Amino acid sequence: MFKDKIVFITGGSRGIGKAVALEFAKHDATVIFNYTNSDDSANETIRLMKEINSQGTFEAVKFDISITSDSDEKIGAILDKYGRIDILVNNAGITRDSLFMRMKESQWDEVFNVNAKGVFNCTKNVVRSMVKNQYGKIISITSVVGEMGNPGQANYSSTKSAIFGFTKSLAKELGSKNINVNAISPGFIETDITEGLPDAIKQKYMEMIPLAKFGQAEDVAKSVLFLASDDSSYITGEILKINGGLYT
Ligand code: NAP
Repeated sequence: MFKDKIVFITGGSRGIGKAVALEFAKHDATVIFNYTNSDDSANETIRLMKEINSQGTFEAVKFDISITSDSDEKIGAILDKYGRIDILVNNAGITRDSLFMRMKESQWDEVFNVNAKGVFNCTKNVVRSMVKNQYGKIISITSVVGEMGNPGQANYSSTKSAIFGFTKSLAKELGSKNINVNAISPGFIETDITEGLPDAIKQKYMEMIPLAKFGQAEDVAKSVLFLASDDSSYITGEILKINGGLYT
C-alpha cells in the first residue's frame, strides 16, 4: 500500500512509534525513524522490520528532536539521501509528572521542548519538501489528557492540547498544497509510558473505559496508517480518538 512512500517517524524505537514503524514496514514503505537513548531498542525495531519485510529499506537515526540544530542537520541529511519525506509521524513524547504546586520549571520546559518544540522542529524541516512535491501526510500523536486534563500532568497535557491547535492551523495552511494534517489522540495505551503507573491509577482508568480494556500500540499504529493512506485523502484537521470510549 505504501510501496513508493518515504516515512519519517519520531521515536520509533519503543512503544507506539515502534508499532507504527512495523506496520509501515509490513505495507512496503521506506521507513526512517529516530530515537534518543537506546541503540539496542532501535536495532531491535530494525531487526523486526527486516523480519517482516526483508526487501525493505529501513533506517534508525539517533538525535533529540528538542534540539533544533540537530533536527535541522539530521532531517536535512535524510532529505538529501532519500530525496523527500512523504509521511511525517510526530510521535515522540515524554512525561515529567508532578502536581503543579511542586512542578519545577525544568519539568515544564523539558516536556515542552520535546512534545511541542520537537513537533515544530520536525515539521518545519519536512514541510518544504512536501509543498514542493504537492503531497504530504502529517500525523501527530496527541493524547486524551490534552482533551480532558489530568492531575500531575499540567505540563504534558498542555503540550498535547497544543497539538490540537497546531494540527487545525496547519491543515488550513497546507490543504491547498495537497497536504493532509491530522492527529491521533490515544487514551490509555500499554507502553513504557504507562507501565510505571500505580495500580490504583490503572484501575481508575479501567473503570472509565467502556470497552473495559487498555489499548495496544498496534491499535494506534493501524489508525496512523489509515490517516497516511489515500483512503483518508478527504480528511484533514481531524483528531481521531483511540481510547476505548474513555473520553468522547
Ligand atoms: P514510549 O514507549 O516512552 O516511547 C517514546 C519514544 O520516543 C521512544 O522511542 C523514545 O526514544 C522516543 N523519544 C523520547 N524523547 C525523544 C526525543 N527527545 N527525541 C527523539 N525521540 C525521543 O512512549 P509511547 O507510550 O509509545 O508514546 C508515544 C507517543 O504517544 C507520545 O507522544 C505520547 O505522549 C503519546 N501517547 C501515549 C499514550 C500511552 O498511553 N502510552 C497515550 C496518549 C498519547 P528512546 O528509546 O531513545 O528514549
